[in-house]
Amino acid sequence: MYVGVVTIFPEIIKDYFAFGIMGRATREGLVDLNIFDVRDYAFDLHKTVDDRPYGGGPGMVLMYEPLSSAVKAARRKAPADTKVGLVTPQGEKFEQKTAIDKSRLDGIILVCGRYEGFDERFIEEFVDFEWSIGDYIVSGGELPALTCLDAIIRNLPAVVNNAQSILDESFLDGTLDYPQYTRPELVDSRKVPSVLLSGNHSAVNSFRKAASFRKTYKRRPDLLVGKTFSEDERKLLVKCFSDEDDQRKR
Ligand code: SAH
Repeated sequence: MYVGVVTIFPEIIKDYFAFGIMGRATREGLVDLNIFDVRDYAFDLHKTVDDRPYGGGPGMVLMYEPLSSAVKAARRKAPADTKVGLVTPQGEKFEQKTAIDKSRLDGIILVCGRYEGFDERFIEEFVDFEWSIGDYIVSGGELPALTCLDAIIRNLPAVVNNAQSILDESFLDGTLDYPQYTRPELVDSRKVPSVLLSGNHSAVNSFRKAASFRKTYKRRPDLLVGKTFSEDERKLLVKCFSDEDDQRKR
């Protein structure tokens, strides 16, 4: 997958892609990472990329021309039809389903903002979609762009070794992930739930599913609205909530 990132802080992007799953995906050529430093496309001696907003007000605004030249350079290297996205708190909320959907693309270009944001005309002329990572403001687009790219790239075939680990994750089936345990079996007088040591796969699955339902119901009931359940899941749901009622009564 071709990944183009337009930024004034290329090192942040480069360094993140040196580690962990993103590092391996890049080294193995599953991701073709191309970083475009907006300053390389500035046209004055001082490499200016920002200027004061027309109409006054605080802060600076990223200028049209360096951004547009950087995006054109990114597009020249990208597969045909690669879309250009912007990370901005004003964008559509980026979610797991967005990540899965976009992992099917041949290429993606993301533009990172800084300061107060972008000259609106750049957005109108060059940007196909806008993503927000949530209703809060961080000081630059690099973390949001890395967040979105990481979430997309983990879903590329062959990137995460164990395909099942992707299928098991939170959100995919509309529920939160179940709790995990590793060695030792007993620590600070806390035991691993015995069913996980039983070797009984179907009991383990039911335990995990029930734990996942319970956690989702408690923390994120909004995720369950409109979700469809199989007959077995429905039975399990009823059981785990009646168990809980019993516990509360005790
Ligand atoms: N004045 C702007 C915020 C600028 S923050 C506004 O109120 O909309 C500087 C840059 O950080 C933004 O241009 C954007 O690229 C990035 N950014 C900040 N918060 C973000 C968020 N929640 N999601 C995506 N990008 C964000």
